Amino acid sequence: MTAHFCGKLPGQPDTHSCRVGGVPLGGKSPVVVQSMTNTDTADAEATARQCFELSQAGSELVRITVNTPEAAAAVPEIRRRLDDLDCPVPLIGDFHYNGHRLLADCPDCAIALAKYRINPGNVGFGQKKDAQFSAMIDLACRYEKPVRIGVNWGSLDPSVLARMMDENNRRHAPDRSLSEIMRAALLASALESAERAEELGLPGERIILSCKVSAVPDLIAIYRELAARCRYALHLGLTEAGMGSRGVVASTAALAVLLEEGIGDTIRVSLTPEPGAPRKKEVEVAQDILQSLGLRVFAPQVIACPGCGRTTSSLFQELAQRVQAFLQTKMVEWQKQYAGVEHLRVAVMGCVVNGPGESRHAQVGISLPGAGEAPSAPVYEDGVKTATLKGEHLADEFLDIITRYVARNYARKEE
Ligand code: SF4
Repeated sequence: MTAHFCGKLPGQPDTHSCRVGGVPLGGKSPVVVQSMTNTDTADAEATARQCFELSQAGSELVRITVNTPEAAAAVPEIRRRLDDLDCPVPLIGDFHYNGHRLLADCPDCAIALAKYRINPGNVGFGQKKDAQFSAMIDLACRYEKPVRIGVNWGSLDPSVLARMMDENNRRHAPDRSLSEIMRAALLASALESAERAEELGLPGERIILSCKVSAVPDLIAIYRELAARCRYALHLGLTEAGMGSRGVVASTAALAVLLEEGIGDTIRVSLTPEPGAPRKKEVEVAQDILQSLGLRVFAPQVIACPGCGRTTSSLFQELAQRVQAFLQTKMVEWQKQYAGVEHLRVAVMGCVVNGPGESRHAQVGISLPGAGEAPSAPVYEDGVKTATLKGEHLADEFLDIITRYVARNYARKEE
């Protein structure tokens, strides 16, 4: 199946589209990367700093918790601080239980946010639930903001689940497993809430849906059904992906299947960071998923072989690592200077077996000497051998070749 830049497949109907701040979402727009802060939002300085870091890492939308009057009061200040840093990243407010009150009591917060997230399972209790949901939708209509109706496995509206159980029990031969009933209840909660929001006046174009669970097969099944049953823009992500490689693999497995089917308009990778690790890891993983699928291009790609018994020393791993770090650092300035430089492909290969071939396919490639090979490294630019490097300055010389290649081959933006 061929992937398309926007993530939509031919014949697959486009979802509704809207703008979240300045970012187009849904329809034919590219799949948007988003992330979420873990600071106390009432601490405007720390939250603005983390939003800025996430945005610099490539997060196109950033969600912040808005849980107290102090947090709501800090939102306009966070927006101001980001604007002062020339960082227009739209902010999404994450509300549970008291969102209707916080938004009503703090109009500056309601205005500063570019989108509101409402969880129908946590919008209020008992009879208050409908009124509080309506109040939030009214505010979204008044301030012309899009809303994500985000249902979660862990906070599913108990009344919807009870209704689904009753319906199953009333069948002549109750045949649905608990897991099937849960899935049906998640879908019903999301779709019925979206329908209610439209009845209250929120245009369908400004509704984004999510139905998050933590098991990959369940997520895939739920989103396939959601995509078949509605045209709302869809936010994809596991509710808790987990830590380390488990979280990365689970997110990639789930999101790759759906994105390849053209399902999903915005993604978040909900990794649990290692203590002290930067929050931006979730943004890097989201970008890598989209770039690997050929849906977006964010950064130059380093193609490196895994190494094997033919790799002579640590030179190969060290060079691959240095090239990767060099490109990451240089991209900060290159992105401002050169149009399209994010498409650059660099190969660092360990020996003659696949080295010259893979290097020729990259724009710039180097094939290091493997065991028993002459201690020299041919360099290829656009498939043509242009240099042979050897000696202790090999790495510096290769980085210079990459720099010169970029300057020669990418148009300067100011021109
Ligand atoms: S290119 Fe050479 S060193 Fe790299 S994995 Fe293949 S055989 Fe091993």
